[in-house]
Amino acid sequence: MRDSNGPAARALMVAALALLGAAACSVPEPRGIAFENVTVVDAAHGARPDQRVLVVDDRIVSVAPMASAAGADEAPPAQVVDGRGRFLVPGLWDMHVHFLYDEALTEHMAGLFLEYGITSVRDTGGDMARLAALRARLQDGAEPAPRIFVSGPLLDGRFVVYDGADPGRPPLGTDVATPASAAARVAALDEAGADFIKIYELVMPNVFQALADEARARNLPIAAHVPLMMTADEAGPRVDSMEHLRNVELACAGSWAELLAARQQRITAFEEGRGYDLRRSLHADQRVPAIEAYDESRCATVLAALGDTVQVPTLRLNTLASTRPFDRDDWDEALAGLPEPVAGRWREEAAAIRDGETDPTFADWSLFLVGLMHEHGVPIGAGTDTPIGLAVPGYSLHTELELLVRSGLTPREALHAATVMPASFFAMEDELGTVSEGKLADLVLLEADPLEDIANTRRIAGVMAAGRWLPRD
Ligand SMILES: [Zn+2]
Repeated sequence: MRDSNGPAARALMVAALALLGAAACSVPEPRGIAFENVTVVDAAHGARPDQRVLVVDDRIVSVAPMASAAGADEAPPAQVVDGRGRFLVPGLWDMHVHFLYDEALTEHMAGLFLEYGITSVRDTGGDMARLAALRARLQDGAEPAPRIFVSGPLLDGRFVVYDGADPGRPPLGTDVATPASAAARVAALDEAGADFIKIYELVMPNVFQALADEARARNLPIAAHVPLMMTADEAGPRVDSMEHLRNVELACAGSWAELLAARQQRITAFEEGRGYDLRRSLHADQRVPAIEAYDESRCATVLAALGDTVQVPTLRLNTLASTRPFDRDDWDEALAGLPEPVAGRWREEAAAIRDGETDPTFADWSLFLVGLMHEHGVPIGAGTDTPIGLAVPGYSLHTELELLVRSGLTPREALHAATVMPASFFAMEDELGTVSEGKLADLVLLEADPLEDIANTRRIAGVMAAGRWLPRD
């Protein structure tokens, strides 16, 4: 045996110390944020308990079981968030919002979205230049902000529903009167930075087709209301998403052909007046009769045509008078986040709805139809139309998720509607929608399991937007 105090041993020790010194010099700087001992929940993988999720800059760099995480040569995180007993889900989307609907709310919406865990939104109609400027400001990185995808104006017909003629209805729309003008309008929107286009209810079928063709040629996704001159099964397959379930009731009626003919005749004969009134009178006259004429096999044919068209049912809006979000326990707290003039106005509107007569036909139909669509494999996306119909930005998306579950989706499927589905609408499924290595770090940390009860998406411990951690205090 060697003498441990001999020269050889001393030389070894010197070498070892030198190595240690070198190692100390290369100890990596702490960086990123680690969520530890957390249950990761997303629509693609279900629940993965006891995970460590490491975020560096704006990316998720690893998702791994605690036991196998933290490799020896990995930089230690600069911050550790305790995920014990908590659930980490992808940042949520609201697929249907209008930043420019209420000027008193425009500047407050982004902050409210983030507070409620909404890290991406689709603005489905408003002035393009203003929305582009808003998007540029939100995305400049100065403040944490949700991602915002904009369509520019509602592309309407010769008559425009949201023409701005009435102070209660802002100028969200624009007229596209002829097929010849359609391509130029889409081109201009594309050049101005539109992320998708939104086609509205009073366009003529030939204009609808011209708009869709140009958007396709430019690789712009298309959101649409079913034009009143067309049926859902005719228009739906030519677009990527349909909003509000509107006009599906007509397509699903046994008497659809007669209802459509009457509708087309009234629209064609309309020469004077407001687009809004034309649309309202058609819905007022035809919606309930169409629902009463529901034909199961006809509707199955319609839904079979919609297998590739995301439906954004806005159940919260469609059922407002019967599900009454303003009667919820947390409504006053949600209103407290709005500027007082808006909150005051909304309290009055809620009181008027409470006191008014309610016909539940369309609300019940909407809940029934989403369940039926889901059974038929029609893809469903989560959106609210906020701030229309007393929809508090951010808060209202959680109500929408609950209503999707009430209509027949599982909590996991409802989560899919607010994460994977919207990401894939924009062909961004490699970047967003699940908690996965390499994806953008948009995350929400919850105090309770959303797969057990979807209402647990409201129990937010903190939100991460593009890698920036915003704990709720
Ligand atoms: Zn809308």
